[in-house]
Amino acid sequence: MITPAPPRRPCPRYSADGTPCSNTTTRADGWCGRCDGYTTVTPAVTRNATGPRRSEWRWGPDTWTPGALGMDSDEAYEIDVTPGAVATYGRVHAVMPQIAETQIRSLLEDLISEQAATERSSTGTWRIYFRKHGYGLVISADRSHVLRYCTRHAERTWAQYRTGVTSRISGSGGTAAWKREALSRHIPVPISGKALNLYARHTLGLKVTRDDIDDIAQRLATHLSDNVLPHWHRTAEAAIEDGHGNTWILLRNERFPDGIIATVHATGSDPHSRHEERQR
Ligand SMILES: [Zn+2]
Repeated sequence: MITPAPPRRPCPRYSADGTPCSNTTTRADGWCGRCDGYTTVTPAVTRNATGPRRSEWRWGPDTWTPGALGMDSDEAYEIDVTPGAVATYGRVHAVMPQIAETQIRSLLEDLISEQAATERSSTGTWRIYFRKHGYGLVISADRSHVLRYCTRHAERTWAQYRTGVTSRISGSGGTAAWKREALSRHIPVPISGKALNLYARHTLGLKVTRDDIDDIAQRLATHLSDNVLPHWHRTAEAAIEDGHGNTWILLRNERFPDGIIATVHATGSDPHSRHEERQR
């Protein structure tokens, strides 16, 4: 018997700059898989302004030694998922419990089928994880339950990460040296390459190149010193509207003790940036 196709629904996700997706999808997780797939308009970090985010890359006090978990990828759809694992997942990625459970199963299937590292703890539980990518699960000793979800990522799901969606809140680690040099000549606070690129594209209508980086950095510096930095009180996390249709996210933490301008997104009322074509 052929099961009916799932209904086609609008994709409820957002691109990195906060633009709502206009695709439709029949996928179980509700994501079309073609947009950036963020579940919130603004980074989750702005909704949790009480201090630095707690890492979810926590495996408990156990010691782990390599061991073969011996699960088949089909079992990802038979195993039980505990409410604790669902709750952690739902909190980190801002999704409903049902979606969280679907995505945890999908992650487990990928972990098993892609032969992720498996280890056994001194208490008999298992962990299976992508060490390099920063996603993993704790499985009960009898392999009947997913006990815990662990991730090093602040908001991106494994499904987003594996499709190449880049972080919209992490720092300047990936910014080319020539960009960093030009930026530091003009701007008193570190700024991520992402924030630079988004500002250049959406506000100036320019792509950042070696030829125009100095001009862009100067204009960005003026914009920030006029509209953003005076409103920044050097808190751990701040979301500042610049009065020109953009909200800037600034962070201050151990890695960036002087702060960093992490990203910028459309505040939502600016028609120009809403209708701008996204390009990678
Ligand atoms: Zn979409």
